[in-house]
Parts: sequence; structure tokens; C-alpha cells
Amino acid sequence: MQQPSEKDVEAAKEYIRRRLDAERSMVYNLEKAMKRAAEKIVEICYSANISPQNFHYSDLSIRDQNKVDEVIKELQEEVGDYYETLAIADHEEDRDYLLPIIYGEDRGLTFEERLEDYCNKYKNELMLLIGAGLFLGVAKKLLAKSIGENLKHPYANQLLAEGIDAPLTYGRGKTNSMLTAIGNLTRFGIAKGWMKSWERSTSKNGCFGWIVRRGSSWPCDICNDNCGFHPIEEGTGLPVHSHCCCVAIPVYV
Ligand SMILES: [Zn+2]
Repeated sequence: MQQPSEKDVEAAKEYIRRRLDAERSMVYNLEKAMKRAAEKIVEICYSANISPQNFHYSDLSIRDQNKVDEVIKELQEEVGDYYETLAIADHEEDRDYLLPIIYGEDRGLTFEERLEDYCNKYKNELMLLIGAGLFLGVAKKLLAKSIGENLKHPYANQLLAEGIDAPLTYGRGKTNSMLTAIGNLTRFGIAKGWMKSWERSTSKNGCFGWIVRRGSSWPCDICNDNCGFHPIEEGTGLPVHSHCCCVAIPVYV
């Protein structure tokens, strides 16, 4: 078996760098979209003149509840648009091949189902934070800004800590932030699209397999186990997980 040339190694690495740029662009746009949604929902809730105790969306009028749902639906659509654009990127010729891959079922749920679930969980994340803001009497603008600045760790928000921890609030599901959840979901799908497109284009050029190497030095057994030669019929197995930056160097006869 011929060893890959320096040129092939460099091209494989460059491809991963471009893919990671697309993933970062996704998270950047996602964060902006989530901030805008937070601002809108804070506005709706604060304009409703409701009791600052134990806030729940069901305290809002049906009309305002629909407005909140509309904001969440828009967020979902906007994120979906960024996702498809960045997953297909300049692999337009592979679009029909890639669509079922980036939208297909993964561990029992499709991309859309998972995104919808996460967007609804974001709606609940916001409800808890807005509830804390109302309870503490935090001004509207300050609240929206503070939510936007703490999307990664929403429940560690210093401004709202007291309100979040107050026994009056409910359902303290202090799990993952939805920025992280949606970020990982979209990054993984974008990476999948790019890697499948890479497998396709390099095999069209006549490679008979790939040598997979680590692209980072983070300790990761799953990535390590996937390293080595992969014959063409097997595929590269990449990305192994979200944030995986292993490279697949094509091997030609
Ligand atoms: Zn990896």
C-alpha cells in the first residue's frame, strides 16, 4: 500500500479546517438567533402585566402564548436554514445524496424532531429565567441582555441566581444549556455532511481507502479506536462524535 503524499495529508487537514469553520459559523449564528428569540419572549412576557410570583407561560393570554410559540417556531426554522446551508456548503453537487444523511434518523429521532424538542426545551429554559427576572424585579432590557450573555450556562447567571434558586420557582432541570444541545446537534450533522461529501469526492478520484488520523491531541478512546486504515466500502466512520476533528487521508493505488 502506497503511503499518502504530503500533499494529500495537507489537503485532508485543510478540509477539516474548513469544516470546523462551517461548524463555528453555525454556533455563531445559532447564538445570535437564540438571543433574538430571548429578547422577543422577554418583551412579550414583560408587556403582559402578570404577577411576578411563580411565572408560567400559562399565565399569559392565549394570544401571547401563541406569540411565544411563534417566536420558537421562527427560531427553529432559522436554525434549520443555517444548518442546511452550512451542511451542504459548497458541495452542491452532492445535495441529493447529503439531504437524507443530514436529516435522517439517528438513535431513533430525526434531526427535525430533535431540533423541535430542543427549541421547546429552550422555551422552558427561558420561562425559568424570565420567572426569576420577574421575581427579582430585574428590568426588561437588563434581563434580555443577561440571558443572552449566559446562554452557555443559563442557570449560573449571577444576576438571576437568587431567583432561580428561590423555592418559588419550579422544575430546576439544571442540565445542559440548549445552546450547547442545539450547537452539538447541528455541529455533528454539519460534520457528517462534510465527511460524507469528502468520502464521495476522494473515492471518485480513485482512492481505495483512507488512513484516519487524530486531528487533535485530546485524549479520546473512541477517536483512537477509529484511527488507521479504512477500506472504501467501510467509509471513514467520521465524525466519531460531535467536535471530532480526525482527518481522513485518501490512499491511492
Ligand atoms: Zn475524532
